[in-house]
Amino acid sequence: MNTEPTPPPRCFQTGLRERLASLKADGLHRELRRLETAQGSRIKVDGRAYLNFSSNDYLGLANDPLLTAAASQAMKEYGFGAGASRLICGSSGWHERLEQRLAFFKGTESALTFSTGYAAAIGTIPALVGAADCVILDKLAHACLVDAARLSRAQLRVYPHNDLDKLNRLLAWAAGRRAAGKILVVTESVFSMDGDQAPLKEIVELKDRYGAWLMVDEAHATGLFGNRRQGLCSHLGIADRVEIQMGTLSKALGASGGFICGSRLLTELLINQARSFIFSTAPPLPAAAAAAAAVDFVASAEGAERCHRLWERIGQFLQGIRSLPAGERIRCGGSVGGMAAFGESAIIPLILGEEQRALHMAGELRQHGFFIPAIRYPAVPRGQARLRVTLSASHTAEEVDRLLKCLGELDSSLAANS
Ligand SMILES: *Cc1c(COP(=O)(O)O)cnc(C)c1O
Repeated sequence: MNTEPTPPPRCFQTGLRERLASLKADGLHRELRRLETAQGSRIKVDGRAYLNFSSNDYLGLANDPLLTAAASQAMKEYGFGAGASRLICGSSGWHERLEQRLAFFKGTESALTFSTGYAAAIGTIPALVGAADCVILDKLAHACLVDAARLSRAQLRVYPHNDLDKLNRLLAWAAGRRAAGKILVVTESVFSMDGDQAPLKEIVELKDRYGAWLMVDEAHATGLFGNRRQGLCSHLGIADRVEIQMGTLSKALGASGGFICGSRLLTELLINQARSFIFSTAPPLPAAAAAAAAVDFVASAEGAERCHRLWERIGQFLQGIRSLPAGERIRCGGSVGGMAAFGESAIIPLILGEEQRALHMAGELRQHGFFIPAIRYPAVPRGQARLRVTLSASHTAEEVDRLLKCLGELDSSLAANS
């Protein structure tokens, strides 16, 4: 018997090799690095210890005993796999409990969970709008929102980041079309690569004026804002005017999965029409149990304390950056001009410009023992590459000081070049 694998056709391999070479030449090639520890402020990657300023585990819950105990308990009683889609072989009590906790947490009638935030977006937008309709997106909206809007076959219109005038004009245009269908406005509340906030109060006014619907992705705001840390919509008092509130369980909540909160009719429609829900196996039960524990924790007094600690670190870091000699010339994300994102979230991008420059700086920081990713196209526009620093309640004040000291040494090379 011949056990040699058959080599794939040469032209296939050559084509892939050429594309990879071109990515490398443009500073856009990526590779995986082996993480050898649990998620946390101190990690080991490819055999080296680092202080971790790269994760979205904002409240340090990913490896918290509260979550792992909930997951272990559920696994002992119910095993790991869900077996099939929830419409096929019964919907587990764990998923139902998680959705009840989420709806209570967000103060909505109902909630529906998906296996990821990505799946929530991909399932929801095409379930709500189609070819006769129009989706209006912020230019910096996350890839899953863009992909979902494309998949819906609705007409797509994009407004420059946070540009209310342009949004107003697009809404007027969409409302005035001859065969006007539904209009769906889609934005993030905290933007994932810039860390700044959307002007949600104004957006709500606008979409109401034109009878449009609004979907807000709270991936980076859940756990950080609001009296129970529900997100920015609640914090601003406009949650009940947002038709579709989306979020992920995998960032500040430290677990895994995505969710949509809203009316009972909305989740009933999604159960019937969201293809990523219908045609995908339910998330593992331990994941749902861990997420439910995380939701309850975040809403509790201890959650408040954890969140307070995170904001202390954010304040400490921003103040430190500003007082560097090059402080005024360092662009911390947001709109051009630098300070827009000051203290608006746990994401503080240091914008460097050229892709190779960001790669080089990320390498320098690794040399000094800091793990901070160089974010490049297509996650951000070409020529706006950056170091994306994220802070977590799991960081100590001393760890943040160590990063500031190191950035101080690299000081002048941090100034934006564009
Ligand atoms: C991470 C992210 C998602 C996707 O959530 P996952 O649960 O990781 O799939 C969606 N939207 C935004 C803005 C994100 O940053």
